[in-house]
Amino acid sequence: MQMQFEDAYKEVYEIVKPRYKLFTAGPVACFPEVLEIMKVQMFSHRAKEYKVIHMDTLERLKKFLEAENGEIILFPSSGTGFMEAAVRNTVPRGGKVLVTIIGAFGKRFKEVVESNGRKAVTLEYEPGKAVKPEDLDDALRKNPDVHAVTITYNETSTGVLNPLPELAKVVNEHDKLLFVDAVSAMGGADIKFDKWGIDIIFGSSQKAFGVPPGLAIAAISQRVFEIAEKMPERGWYFDLPLYKKFNYKKQGTPSTPPMPQVFGLNVVLRIIEKMGGKEEWLKMYQKRAEMIRNGVREIGLEILAEPGYESPTITAVLTPEGIKGEEVYNAMRERGFELAKGYGEGIKEKTFRIGHMGYMTFEDIEEMLQNLKEVIEELKKKA
Ligand SMILES: *Cc1c(COP(=O)(O)O)cnc(C)c1O
Repeated sequence: MQMQFEDAYKEVYEIVKPRYKLFTAGPVACFPEVLEIMKVQMFSHRAKEYKVIHMDTLERLKKFLEAENGEIILFPSSGTGFMEAAVRNTVPRGGKVLVTIIGAFGKRFKEVVESNGRKAVTLEYEPGKAVKPEDLDDALRKNPDVHAVTITYNETSTGVLNPLPELAKVVNEHDKLLFVDAVSAMGGADIKFDKWGIDIIFGSSQKAFGVPPGLAIAAISQRVFEIAEKMPERGWYFDLPLYKKFNYKKQGTPSTPPMPQVFGLNVVLRIIEKMGGKEEWLKMYQKRAEMIRNGVREIGLEILAEPGYESPTITAVLTPEGIKGEEVYNAMRERGFELAKGYGEGIKEKTFRIGHMGYMTFEDIEEMLQNLKEVIEELKKKA
């Protein structure tokens, strides 16, 4: 295929071309193999070639998420689409949901619950803290009428990983539905869907899988479909039983999926296999996280997350006295590294974040840490 209007391409490329090494909160840098497959010419999503990739992707995700008893659903949306879907498909209008909040994304789940005409009761912690099983048990005893509990597995604004297996156990003891926002965890932290007893767990393509944005991924329990089938006015675009039907009847989605992202995700799932499987892949994430945390501490900086709950996919770092998070972010950008700004009430100014997600090498991490050390020294002199 020959380009006839190469200058049109060049005009856009000049604006968006890669200029930084990314340590972002998402979108993150993608594997070159992913970007390569995403360039293929498009064809109908009802053609048999798409069906092959669709079904193969579901199979690979089932294995990766250990969700043999669950249903894998792909949405042509970002991850937040599944917050909306969880609420609309399973909680009746006016019904209550217990929303646990340890940062900005827990707050988003509350907004989704309320903007859909459902009621939220909350269990909230200060930034840096994780949800504790005994508090959750307590909150459920006080609110026995909730339909569901929401948990942010990995809070991207604070770099905290919640103890999901322990929390899921509590939710199951109270026999409530469990919705897990795993947007910045899926692909970077372990998920055992069947074993932990989860009802809906969702992620986005553009975080720890290292694929461009536009595709949301979830594992859903069978009881969710039983409840959803009887739920009136659950909408069409995020109708979970409709998606399940299309997985089986059409080997696809009700509306057009972002096909390049599905191809990209399929490639990543194969890369994971070739690296030796999920365990090896997750070890890579652990190693990145430890390198970054150790490096940050060696520079003399503190990490926001309480000890024992540090995220494998993102680190929120407290800035030294007199230095704003944004100054660190800007200075690092000038040196060719894109980190993430602080995010969320009360911590935006005094933190910056280092993402560990997507395509990066251990050498990139060392180089980033060396530059961060110099940037902090320079800013301290000025402060
Ligand atoms: C990024 C993120 C979201 C939002 O995901 P979208 O794909 O942008 O909808 C939600 N929750 C968490 C924890 C995130 O990190």
